[in-house]
Amino acid sequence: MRNEDAADARLRVGMGFDAHRFAPERALVLGGLRLREQDGLLGHSDADVLTHAVMDALLGAAGLDDIGELFPDTDPAFAGADSVALLGAVVQLLRERGWEIVNVDAVVICEEPRIAPHRAAMRERLAGGMGVETDRVTLRGTTTEGLGFTGQREGIAAQAVALVRKTAG
Ligand code: MG
Repeated sequence: MRNEDAADARLRVGMGFDAHRFAPERALVLGGLRLREQDGLLGHSDADVLTHAVMDALLGAAGLDDIGELFPDTDPAFAGADSVALLGAVVQLLRERGWEIVNVDAVVICEEPRIAPHRAAMRERLAGGMGVETDRVTLRGTTTEGLGFTGQREGIAAQAVALVRKTAG
């Protein structure tokens, strides 16, 4: 293997996508922040769509299964689960396999809430959950200008990419 091939093999990228529908009786948890007590998202866990996308991006980068495999929604142990705690478990799994996080970037797709006012706190919370510096985590919100299920305010979607580096193994 040429030197640059060996270097390339130590860097892997992954992507994650998730969507949850709105549920009036549920609290809204996004990026580990409890933003309001009503008009949240339906899901077996806390339905933190952003954190779920981040977890799948990390798992994909490390060549591992998805969160549905790791934390099945048929398992009562994960009912109402704090997704940032699950994110911590995902990162632990990566570390055990010799992967460290280079960076994570994410987009939240919804008409509301606005993400910008919460961006700094979400970055801090997610980075804290992953045990990395805040500057390794970036995110932003976007709308679809009224188009599709996010535009029609039926739910919220999120996309994430993660870059990981092999440090051992
Ligand atoms: Mg989900």
